[in-house]
Amino acid sequence: MRKMLNQVADKLLRKSWTESRINRLVGEYRELYHAYASEDSLRVNAASGGVGSALLISLLEQGEIDGALVCNTDIENEKVRAHFTIATTKQEILAAQGSKYVETAFIREALPLIRQFNGRIAVVGLPCDISNLSRWEVKDHDLADKVKLKIALVCGHNSRTELIDEISQQLRKEAASPLRSYQFRKGHWRGELEAGFQNGTTIRKPFSYFSLYQNLFFYSEKKCLVCHDHFGYQADISLGDVWAYRFKQDPIKKTGVIIRTRQGSDLWQSSYRGGTITATSLDICDILDGQARAAPFHYNVSARSRVAPLFGYKVPDKVKTRVSWHAWLTALITLFNMRWSESVQWNRLIFRLPRPLLKAYLYLKKGLESLS
Ligand SMILES: Cc1cc2nc3c(=O)[nH]c(=O)nc-3n(C[C@H](O)[C@H](O)[C@H](O)COP(=O)(O)OP(=O)(O)OC[C@H]3O[C@@H](n4cnc5c(N)ncnc54)[C@H](O)[C@@H]3O)c2cc1C
Repeated sequence: MRKMLNQVADKLLRKSWTESRINRLVGEYRELYHAYASEDSLRVNAASGGVGSALLISLLEQGEIDGALVCNTDIENEKVRAHFTIATTKQEILAAQGSKYVETAFIREALPLIRQFNGRIAVVGLPCDISNLSRWEVKDHDLADKVKLKIALVCGHNSRTELIDEISQQLRKEAASPLRSYQFRKGHWRGELEAGFQNGTTIRKPFSYFSLYQNLFFYSEKKCLVCHDHFGYQADISLGDVWAYRFKQDPIKKTGVIIRTRQGSDLWQSSYRGGTITATSLDICDILDGQARAAPFHYNVSARSRVAPLFGYKVPDKVKTRVSWHAWLTALITLFNMRWSESVQWNRLIFRLPRPLLKAYLYLKKGLESLS
């Protein structure tokens, strides 16, 4: 019954994607895969199918790279923060597994780490980080020689620290103990968050406990307003979820893989042949159906640019795309929520609103996005 419902949902949400729209949204690509880390233990703490970590581990073990730039969750003064490190062992790569939905300082932290590192490196980052790195590579040939592979995580947007601070404070109250560890998302489909506390308690909640606010763009990073890069145009390989309902019943959650460059393809093939990764081919429409709301919304900077002055933001329009009434309304809701979460006077109200009300608000936003 559930399988049938998923198939119906899938059919209703499936869209037709023209060549030019695919080019605009996804950029150039050579190969597409639906993949997962073959070893079960490499998927336990993964955001999706554990492909990001499996790929890095196999490249390290095959001697293709000497290190990998990864992003760790640290607990600092009981607050959840994300920092970059260069992992040189399998254990270090696994310790940094999973998505960190909180702001980072790529240029300030990661670039110096890469420059100081003595060896070849694979870099994982959000699309904005990877395009910043690519710009630096043009100016700095030593840096370019060192970076062997650029992996972008498909990205809707990222959140400021205030959001995770509020969520972790609520969890701390529930556990009545200081926070010891935090994982944003693990497990099948949308997954669960997991917080560990000093008194030994572990709290798990549906990821929506956090993502309800995130998806409504409360406490979004400002730079995300001007970004139209959902899939990581400048990467050698992009990794993301494939949220098409037809894959919901798969017993193993998988990662959608977009291979863009020759270098990406060569390194992917050496990991695949080594057996670390299990993969089947995927169609670009599967990837886009899985991002059917988020990707067109993300690309449409023009809509955000139009409504930005209403909220005192400046958003330069780099894409000059058509703004339909529903794209305009979605942008209005998005920027209104961002502004609301910036208001010292009113932002406490956000967390006092009943969740069912916020859920209805989110469904309205998603409904409008589906019209695109
Ligand atoms: C802020 C954010 C937003 C995202 N939005 C979407 C989306 O809208 N749609 C979608 O399909 N996918 C999105 N993703 C990507 C998705 O969550 C997974 O990261 C991706 O599918 C790879 O999963 P995996 O299991 O293969 O990788 P894993 O094995 O979990 O490895 C992930 C690697 O990424 C690194 N990493 C994690 N977070 C960050 C970060 N913030 N900055 C730099 N490196 C990091 C980790 O250290 C690890 O090395 C997002 C990820 C992030 C961090």
